[in-house]
Amino acid sequence: KLNTEAELIGKQEVLPIYKPRKRFSHKGSFGHALIVGGSYGKIGSVTLSSKAALVSGVGLVSAYVPKCGYVPLQVALPEAMVITDENEKFISNISFDITPSAIGVGIGIGTQDETLLAFENFLKENKAPLVVDADALNLLSKKTELLALLPKGTVLTPHPKELERLIGEWKDDFDKLNKTKAFSKKHEVIVVVKGANTITVFQDKYYVNTTGNPGLATAGTGDVLMGIIAGLITQGYEPLSASVFGVYLHGKAADIILEDFGYQSMIASYVIDAVAEAYIDLF
Ligand code: AMP
Ligand code: MG
Repeated sequence: KLNTEAELIGKQEVLPIYKPRKRFSHKGSFGHALIVGGSYGKIGSVTLSSKAALVSGVGLVSAYVPKCGYVPLQVALPEAMVITDENEKFISNISFDITPSAIGVGIGIGTQDETLLAFENFLKENKAPLVVDADALNLLSKKTELLALLPKGTVLTPHPKELERLIGEWKDDFDKLNKTKAFSKKHEVIVVVKGANTITVFQDKYYVNTTGNPGLATAGTGDVLMGIIAGLITQGYEPLSASVFGVYLHGKAADIILEDFGYQSMIASYVIDAVAEAYIDLF
């Protein structure tokens, strides 16, 4: 449904991607998302991602967190189920007995050795489609052999620093795009290059988003984006479509609330609340 090569993404381009909800659907029709992340003092990232997955339309969300995340998550987000690691403060062994439709991993996990090993073991076992963000990207940069363990079509969502650790320094925007394309081809992954005009890159194709504003330059908005993309894949969107559509919805939500909160006072939770209106605009 997306054209070849390069494309600017606005409402007209996402309308053919969007799947309206059918009358006789039930929560089982919309999949089960798993969000893996968090460490002591960074459980909020998982709450934001899990909530974003819910508002994107998934049927069920489970969050996998270290033990210290159990109470805060259950209180902050009663719609989510919570699975805990055996470790109190950080993730040390990613193990669960559900079968998620898609998994978002990496927010707030830190980069210590125990977590690296847990992530490696998880990648060796995992079959579900993946969205990899934040410290999980840094773990991939720390141990690049792990890139070979990613399922084809995995979505990576780096901000500029995380991207630089993955592809190295670039001279200019043209060089950055070419290096990202080469990386995407080599590892068969989709790279969402976050920034003022987020570009989703898959091999030689790239899609430049037109929604969003500098109000998004605030804590937790990347966690929200990860939850939306993981949520869309969970609902059956192809990873590339989910990335392009997710980036659009996230930016559109921020544009909708700009009038109410301005650039300075916009926070990630408000962006989650406005995803509903971003969808309604497509009806
Ligand atoms: P992160 O750095 O992981 O929290 O992600 C930040 C999110 O906010 C990404 O989705 C960026 O594309 C978005 N963002 C950051 N700064 C801007 C900006 N100046 N204009 C539009 N979007 C932005
Ligand atoms: Mg981030």
